Amino acid sequence: MKIAIASGKGGTGKTTLATGLALSLIDQGPVWYLDCDVEAPNGHLFLKPDFSRQVQAVIPIPQIQSERCTSCGRCVEVCQFHALAKVGKKILVFPQLCHGCGSCTWNCPEGAILEIPNPIGVLESGLTPEGIYYSRGLLTVSEPMPTPIIRQLKRLETPPADAIVILDAPPGASCSVVETLRGADYVLLVSEPTPFGLHDLKQMLGIVTDMGIPSGVIINRDGIGDDRLESFLDQNSLPVLLRIPFSKELAMGLAAGDSLIRVLPEYRQGLRNMYAQILEFINQGKTS
Ligand code: SF4
Ligand code: SF4
Repeated sequence: MKIAIASGKGGTGKTTLATGLALSLIDQGPVWYLDCDVEAPNGHLFLKPDFSRQVQAVIPIPQIQSERCTSCGRCVEVCQFHALAKVGKKILVFPQLCHGCGSCTWNCPEGAILEIPNPIGVLESGLTPEGIYYSRGLLTVSEPMPTPIIRQLKRLETPPADAIVILDAPPGASCSVVETLRGADYVLLVSEPTPFGLHDLKQMLGIVTDMGIPSGVIINRDGIGDDRLESFLDQNSLPVLLRIPFSKELAMGLAAGDSLIRVLPEYRQGLRNMYAQILEFINQGKTS
């Protein structure tokens, strides 16, 4: 079971929910937590893993061998990311746009492209004190594209068949979120009852609908803002799976590195019930 936790913007409570869920499910099967927020991963602050493995993340960047290149332009045609351009008879490579997909190399009829490994960050993994497998990607600050390192993080190790995999998505509604959600069985959309929360939730709903992934909504900081989020959810018959209150006690606990269920232990059962509900939904093969 792969559950992604996403929100249209940062600071909505995505990691609060993801780490709380991971800790609530440790007796339900092996729990794997993948922190895909590779520009600012912070799940480790709450789960406190002991990192035992570190590998470099690289992408292969094409290098054109001018002595073999016939300037046919096939590589430029197949590159979906505009990382290659033909100027006169010369093929130019723009490494910062390259996703390392290898398509140009595969399609070059002359074998004129070499692939040079380009480091883009590191992947780290280890176990938490509760036995949760935790892994994260750390994108090098100057690297512009998070999607390749997210893809590599998801392939770093293969979870057991009965694992509960929790994918903590980056904030926003960009391709890095799409890359994280790819392959998920269910998406938990964390929102808050504010105009920004509603706006970002609508964006995320558009993405999960396009990707055909069922989803449910978590309302964080319940009690603040206005009722527009609730009205929207009612009108669209969108299920609210859990509400997390606006609470000074919780805010102070999270700031000190405590998890949701350490500060509010009663939420352990609420999260377990939510997981059971999702499992039942998935097993029934319904769509949201
Ligand atoms: S496909 Fe190969 S031969 Fe054709 S332009 Fe590109 S590098 Fe040169
Ligand atoms: S590896 Fe992929 S993204 Fe990079 S230049 Fe080649 S086709 Fe474009």
